[in-house]
Amino acid sequence: MFYKMSQGGAVVASWRDRLKNNIAVVEDRLARACARAGRNRGELTLVAVTKTVAVNVAAALPELGLDHLAESRPQELWRKAELLPAEVRWQLIGHLQRNKVARVLPLVERIHSVDSVRLLQSLDQEAGRLGRSIPVFLEVNASGEERKQGFTPEEVPALVPVIKGLGQIQIKGLMTMAPLVEPQKCRATFARLRDLRDQLASYLAPPHDMTELSMGMSNDFEVAVEEGATFLRLGSVLFEGIPHDPD
Ligand SMILES: *Cc1c(COP(=O)(O)O)cnc(C)c1O
Repeated sequence: MFYKMSQGGAVVASWRDRLKNNIAVVEDRLARACARAGRNRGELTLVAVTKTVAVNVAAALPELGLDHLAESRPQELWRKAELLPAEVRWQLIGHLQRNKVARVLPLVERIHSVDSVRLLQSLDQEAGRLGRSIPVFLEVNASGEERKQGFTPEEVPALVPVIKGLGQIQIKGLMTMAPLVEPQKCRATFARLRDLRDQLASYLAPPHDMTELSMGMSNDFEVAVEEGATFLRLGSVLFEGIPHDPD
């Protein structure tokens, strides 16, 4: 229904129609995953990861119902944030160097990818300077893959005393990236993150609340929903078939 005929008779779609259609397909898959898991769609926040698309594609998302946008590189986040309407709720989902904290913090609603104690402390200090709180997720390498980013599951309990010494930051949950394997094989990684979140929740008091799980990407988001995800970070499944730099 989103496709129209070109003059030559070939079926073409404008990139906006394609985007609309991709979102509808994702929403349909989400509805079914929620039904299987006995969950409500309202428990999930769909975050559109715009790192592979042009500014005008990202700019079309809010009117299509997606106003939570994310970038993995700080420089790209601040480039797009400058050009997009202020209603966009930006999130950083990739590594943040401490020398970029001051520039990133005023632009973002939350940070999914806090991966070191020093970054936690820098964010806390800068949030104090700005007089605001900042909700963050701790990134955990829950799959055990060789990867630089994220705390190991074993490191997470030792963060409790560190977190108790912070004043402005709100730890809202955990984030992970599953390996790019058959989705069912990601289930154990997601379950492990959930267990870790539950453990940590019993040690932390407000303003920390550990209610969120940022997990699930294009390859594996339905399994993540079944395992309790509350933030899904989707890129390629939303932007499939959309030219890199369309008119
Ligand atoms: C790129 C990226 C995503 C989105 O990945 P897709 O497979 O395109 O959905 C999610 N999370 C992080 C941290 C990313 O870097």
